[in-house]
Amino acid sequence: MGEGTRAVHAGLPESSAGAPFLPGPVLAAPYHLPGDPHATPYGYGRYANPTWTAYEAAVGELEGGLAVAFASGMAACTAVLVPGLAPGDLLVACSDGYPVVRALAAEHLEPRGVEVRFVPTAEIGRALEGAAMVWLETPSNPALDVCDVAAIALVTEAPVVVDNTLATPLGQRPLELGADMSVSSGSKALSGHGDLVMGLVTCADPERAAAVRRWRDRTGAIPGPFEAWLAHRSLATLELRLDRQCATALALAELLAAREDVDGVRYPGLAASPGHELASRQMRRFGPMVSFDLGRRERAERFLGALELVAEATSFGSVHSSAERRARWGQGDAVGEGFIRFSCGCEDTADVLADVERALAART
Ligand code: PLP
Repeated sequence: MGEGTRAVHAGLPESSAGAPFLPGPVLAAPYHLPGDPHATPYGYGRYANPTWTAYEAAVGELEGGLAVAFASGMAACTAVLVPGLAPGDLLVACSDGYPVVRALAAEHLEPRGVEVRFVPTAEIGRALEGAAMVWLETPSNPALDVCDVAAIALVTEAPVVVDNTLATPLGQRPLELGADMSVSSGSKALSGHGDLVMGLVTCADPERAAAVRRWRDRTGAIPGPFEAWLAHRSLATLELRLDRQCATALALAELLAAREDVDGVRYPGLAASPGHELASRQMRRFGPMVSFDLGRRERAERFLGALELVAEATSFGSVHSSAERRARWGQGDAVGEGFIRFSCGCEDTADVLADVERALAART
């Protein structure tokens, strides 16, 4: 079956007369639980919930593994990083990925005696020696560099984790490439409407999935049933949304690359972008994000202020196009003051491009 069909049907129950296609969210703390408490998975709301079960089945189907849903992408990252590394272990991780992962490592792993080696995504395959865990983010956010997941998984004995937030499982399937775990923020393109915060860990190995689930039980980093239901409902349109977003992203990247007043245009789907050849082998869709450099901070701010359709906002992957000057966060991303992270939404491509061209021409 095609990917669009799988996205529409993933995790839905067998059809039954009078039943909805996707059952509504189950809002429960305790469930009726007479006698043996292990006779049903649903005894208490922190341990299990039928709405999570359906959503996890859907994501697991798309990623090709066993999915566990979390309260946020960072809760999912934490569930892999913190229990997976002991004092003396070496974590090899991308230096140019989501900065809060680096902050977590600096504040909570290094003080516990975990050694952390940060390496640029494009070079990480050459720095794996001694790793107890390899943490990849490909394409990386926000600079959109890529690394070869299959080649890395082949040469290291350590568990390989891929943050698949940017690509989503319809863009890239890390477990098929040989990774052990795929981690995602469900707050981005996977759910895609900018209306919820969610996280996922998908594991190839059932024992590892059980350990991740146990971590969630113990720490209580659980998603709300309503968010899980919304996320599942939104998954049905993932292919449609991504196809529009990716078409707009490529058209935008081409438009920007052809301009002399815009530098460093990056989009893995753009032939001139770093890593394009590898991305073309590894990915089926290149994601909604384009990055580029407008040089001076003032020019980037003028551009953002002049956009009318595209919102100035953080995050990415929503149906609404948005853009931001990444350096405004001061989080140590190795990007210049005029670096723009642009997320293409599902508006008409022509409207997004026209807004960008108009804002680039704005003088005040
Ligand atoms: N991973 C990546 C690549 C992200 O961009 C983000 C958030 O921006 C996260 C993880 C964390 O996700 P959340 O904000 O859902 O906690």
